[in-house]
Order: sequence, then structure tokens, then C-alpha cells
Amino acid sequence: SDSVIIIGASHAAAQTSVSLRQAGWAGSITVIGDEDVLPYHRPPLSKDFLSGQKSINDILIRPAESYETANIDMKLGVRVGAINRKDKTVLTDDGETLPYEKLVLTTGARIRRLPVPGEDLENVFYLRDTDDVLAIKDKAKTAKRAVIIGGGYIGLETAASLRKQGLEVTVLEAMPRILQRVTAPVMSDFYKRVHMEEGVDILENVIASEIKKDGDTLSVLTSCDKDMPADLVIIGIGVIPNIELAQAAGLDIGNGIEVNEFCQTSDPEIYAAGDVTWHYNTIYGRHVRLESVPNATEQGKVIASHMTGNAKPYNSLPWFWSDQFDLKLQIAGLSTDFDDVIIRGDSSTGRSFAAYYFKDDTFIAVDAVNAPRDFMFGKMSLTKGLNLDKTKIADIDIDLKLTVV
Ligand code: FAD
Repeated sequence: SDSVIIIGASHAAAQTSVSLRQAGWAGSITVIGDEDVLPYHRPPLSKDFLSGQKSINDILIRPAESYETANIDMKLGVRVGAINRKDKTVLTDDGETLPYEKLVLTTGARIRRLPVPGEDLENVFYLRDTDDVLAIKDKAKTAKRAVIIGGGYIGLETAASLRKQGLEVTVLEAMPRILQRVTAPVMSDFYKRVHMEEGVDILENVIASEIKKDGDTLSVLTSCDKDMPADLVIIGIGVIPNIELAQAAGLDIGNGIEVNEFCQTSDPEIYAAGDVTWHYNTIYGRHVRLESVPNATEQGKVIASHMTGNAKPYNSLPWFWSDQFDLKLQIAGLSTDFDDVIIRGDSSTGRSFAAYYFKDDTFIAVDAVNAPRDFMFGKMSLTKGLNLDKTKIADIDIDLKLTVV
């Protein structure tokens, strides 16, 4: 019969399975995920879930009944160990062999470990799943000092959440500035200023070389003269796509599992969606691997449309968000290779402004901080391929609509 197996049970899987049913897929749908929980929203893990405003039930993507109603079989706490493309089966680690007609890989990404001694000590944490955060929350109840290694979005969100709970927090960033990989210097300066205003200490150009147990506490040895004492250490230095299953099955791999505009891998019966995919972005004209919820859900919908014979190619504008303290950052587009950035508003003393990124005088992305109109306008302009006038963008008195070239 027409059976679909989806490997991984998170954002991409939840969307693919439900969209398939909605699009009229009549065969069986089985989702196999190695975490014990139903698919949940991962972004709150470093935000409201860490700071205690939300429980696991609050962050489930859908309640259990919605999968039951849609007749989606959720096999949770089960890992897939191998794919056999010749027999069209998958082998689970508990010894089951399951046949598929179509297979979907939504295996996502896993944390990158910090290659220093002591990263595996008790009270040293990484942050990717609910178990990680429950353990961090437990320790944070009694901890006074936290050291966070890595000044990317997840490290900074974690710093904000722990600071709100009254901990003393220090962020160590190995690069010359926080958020270096993903933003312009003006954004790094802004986030550094706000974190310092909120009482978080940010140390840049500092490399953690070892974590030591020091009686009841920990000590992070660093490249600056000071060793940092800590009751808990959280490491957030990025993720690695889970490509191994696909690779062992002989599928094409780039910086992730390579897929076409319909999210098919090099085997047309096998699809992939989410953080694990290396896909072509039509708006930017290049291959990318994105770590974002909108990408995972959009690709899930693309798969469902293709499998049910109503193919809609993937051509969405990438977008992201990050919440820290009272700052709501919304990002539209990819700013990676910008050569100019224009600030609209006041980033040096205020807490609401937008950074518009340009390459060769073409508008390519916007970072909007507490500025939802700039985000919406930027997203719309990028989607429609509109260019913006730099001089007009810089002038807050000129209406956004009038900045279009
Ligand atoms: P994942 O969520 O990585 O899920 C993959 C699942 O597959 C995992 O459960 C994994 O254990 C399982 N799996 C892997 N291999 C196997 C196997 N062989 N057998 C069975 N199961 C397997 N994105 C945003 O857009 N905005 C944010 O603000 C934001 N904040 C974030 C904060 C944190 C703390 C984290 C960790 C991520 C954040 N992200 C954010 C990124 C976002 O969570 C990811 O883009 C999203 O989770 C990707 O979904 P996915 O379904 O592709 O994969």
C-alpha cells in the first residue's frame, strides 16, 4: 500500500505528516522519532520554556489527538539505524523492519560539541532538546553563576533567560564580536550594549580552553588571564546536520542532504525537509542550509504537495526571529554577503530600529528590532524583488512605502 515513513519527529515531520493527510494522502503515515516527546516548538527552549513561563504542554506543535484524528502513527523514542533503498525498508534500533513507498528524512541537526577537556562534566550543558533544558532549569534553581560559551542567538537568548531568573551570567565569545557569523557589527554592538545594561557580562575574543571541576563548582579556563568560576556552564556553538543515515544510503550530500525544488533527494522516492537539507534558494540563487522553523514547515508543505500530485516548488524567503529581554528581533532574508548596512532609527541608545542590508546596492535582508513594520515591509519587498533607496531608508521621517526605488 502507499505507506509513508517520516524519520525524525519535530517541526518538519509534524508539518509534513499533517499536510499530507490534509492534501488527501490515503495510505499509512508513520513518524519515527528518537525523542520521547511529541513534536514540540524548539525555539522556546532557550526562551519562555527555559525562563519558566511555558511548560512542555504549552510548546507542543499539535496535541496528541490531532495526530490520532489524522491517523498518523507516532513511534516515539525509536531510532532508525539504517535505510535499505533496494528493499525500500527502514530498520529501527529495536529490530523492526518497516516497508515504505515514500520516505521523508527530517533528521534535523544535533549540537556541535566543544573540543576541550571537561565539556562532559556534570553541570556542563548543551541545549537542543527538552531533556537538556529540564536539566538546566533544575540546576539554575540553586545556581548563582552561569558561564555561557558561544555568543550566537541561542547563547544570548539563554543568557537573557538565566539573567531574568537572577543569575550572574557571563558570555564568552571566541570571535572578535558576538553574532559575528550572522549580523553586521552594528547589530553586535547593539546586542552587547543591551546585555551589559541588563547585567550580563560579555567577553569577546576569549577562547575557553578547558572546564575544570573546582570542589562543588566549575571553573572555565580561558585565553584571557581570568579563569571564570561557574555553577553551571552552557555551551552553544552551533549544530551539525544529521546526514549520516542518508549518506550511508548513498544519497547525494552537500552541506546537508541535497534536495531539489520539490524536496526530493537524489532518490526520487526519498524526500528531505528542515535543518538537514542543502537546498537551492531561488531568491538568492544559491544553495543554502537553513536552521529555521519557517524553512522546516515550508519544506514540509512542499513535500506533501508533491507527493499528492499537486506539486508546488519551494521558493520562500528565509526568515527568522530571536527574543532577548524586551527585544523582539525579526529577520527577513539572508544578509551573509552584504557590503553595506543602513540603520533606520536609533541603535546606539534606543531599543527599536532596523538594519537594512545591501549588496552591490541591492537590498538583500533586514534585521528589525522591536520594529515589526520594518520586518513586514522588508519581507514583502524581498519577496517581490523590490529594491530600496539607501538615503531614503536612513531617514526615519520618510514613509517606508516611499523608499522603494
Ligand atoms: P529538528 O528540530 O532538529 O528535529 C529532528 C529530529 O529528528 C530530532 O528530534 C532528532 O532527535 C530526530 N532524529 C534524528 N535522527 C534520527 C533517527 N535516525 N531516528 C529517529 N529520529 C531521529 N528557529 C527559528 O526559526 N527561530 C528561533 O527563534 C529558533 N530558536 C531556536 C532555539 C533553540 C534553543 C534551538 C535548539 C533551535 C532554535 N531554532 C529557531 C531552530 C529550529 O528549532 C530548527 O530550525 C527546527 O527545530 C528544525 O526542525 P527539523 O524538523 O528540521 O529538525
